[in-house]
Amino acid sequence: MTDVDKTAGSVGSRPSEFSGREFVVVGLGESGVAATRTLLEYGAKVTVNDSRALDDLGERAVQVREMGAKLKLGGHRAEWFLDADAIVVSPGVPFLPALADAEQRRIPIWSEVELASRFVKSPIIAITGTNGKSTVTTLVGCMCAQGGFATFVGGNLGTPLVEVAGSEAAESTGRVVAEVSSFQLERVDAFRPHIAALLNVSEDHLDRYESYAHYTATKGRIFHNQKREDHSVILAGDERLFALARVGLGTLHQFGYGGEVRLEDDNVVDEVSGLCVPVSELSLHGEHNALNACAAALLGRLAGVTSDVVEDVLRSYSGLPHRMQLVSVVDDVSFYDDSKATNVGAAVAAAVSAQKDHAHLMLILGGVDKGGSYHPLAQRLRKGFDHAILLGSAAGRIAQALLTADISFDRVGSLGAAVYRAAELAPVGSAVLLAPACSSFDMFHNYVDRGQCFRTAVEQLARTKSQGRFSDETEGGGG
Ligand code: ADP
Repeated sequence: MTDVDKTAGSVGSRPSEFSGREFVVVGLGESGVAATRTLLEYGAKVTVNDSRALDDLGERAVQVREMGAKLKLGGHRAEWFLDADAIVVSPGVPFLPALADAEQRRIPIWSEVELASRFVKSPIIAITGTNGKSTVTTLVGCMCAQGGFATFVGGNLGTPLVEVAGSEAAESTGRVVAEVSSFQLERVDAFRPHIAALLNVSEDHLDRYESYAHYTATKGRIFHNQKREDHSVILAGDERLFALARVGLGTLHQFGYGGEVRLEDDNVVDEVSGLCVPVSELSLHGEHNALNACAAALLGRLAGVTSDVVEDVLRSYSGLPHRMQLVSVVDDVSFYDDSKATNVGAAVAAAVSAQKDHAHLMLILGGVDKGGSYHPLAQRLRKGFDHAILLGSAAGRIAQALLTADISFDRVGSLGAAVYRAAELAPVGSAVLLAPACSSFDMFHNYVDRGQCFRTAVEQLARTKSQGRFSDETEGGGG
């Protein structure tokens, strides 16, 4: 053990104070590798800990060992953490009982964003919420970059945030745009975004949190360290978000209906900058994306971006893959991939936006259940017009909610079968929408894999139909 008093924050807030300090990085994913590399570059001593054994970790373990890290693999033992000056927990690592002793000894335990923020002198624009984080983060990142700022975009989306260390964007004139998950907010200490946004909160990750209140409170931690000169951004009209934002001291700004940047007469309007863009001219579709556009416009303005750049990005940015993407129109039926709709709130938003343009909706649902209620989704479906096709381990719980709302459904064994069943049932002009309201890990590697399997199945369906063999096929595509 080093001779340092291990009280919270003792490791020092400046990276120059990391030299010679002992860090344990838990979780050897992409973010764990990046944290290890950065800490070693700043002179720290790093031990990497992962539940997987050396053989399972493969190249990554070799990589960090060659960098100079020590390895403690194949589990998590309480005594492995007690010599640390600080512990960095990668996103995605579950709650670890083995950290309890370290916590009791007040050894700082940081998430990736806590660590990363210590390398940043520029304003951090941090974005959290149950849904829309990646979309808004990407929009704001484009605005800052197009507005002429050295910009870093990362965190829960794409590049690990700690890779910001040493970049031009981390200097005081740059901008750091960070997507922050609730998992990352569990372990923050001094993390203080200059601009913090909480886009919305609905039930999610109830398989990890003891209650919805606990999940919501974790999201609110984004505001905790804000001071008067900072900005707190929330969706207008949501009392829970208001209460969470008021815990910090930042100046409050609201977006959405009735907000400072609002939806008014089908336009995105910023009463401060004078911005006015018709929703029909945005490249993103659906009411939820119009709200995302409002949030991004507000954040862009607060970050110092001019309104012509904000407008340009809102008009041109057409969205990320697997978010409400039109895959194909087959025999007048439109197939949409919204595989990223991994919770009920997201699936509702996707379904509502499809219902607006289509008289009938075939909604493909299911995957791993996260413990929330499916009733809000069932209640948004239209009896006699919409139909659900269920798969995966959550199918039973979803079926119960659909029965209560008197919505018809089928159960199938694979995503390919779901696509074929939807095509059989869909009247001309329908939408077939993959918006599963669940995570994907029972049948797929992740939501990207699930979305790609959907595309493959739709493409196969299109080929089969063009060859006139549709009635013989029931089990196309991936699993
Ligand atoms: P996140 O990064 O929070 O998962 P994304 O921008 O990747 O958010 O969007 C994920 C899914 O959430 C989308 O596919 C869409 O179905 C839904 N969604 C996006 N924005 C919103 C919003 N503002 N409100 C509700 N649902 C949304």
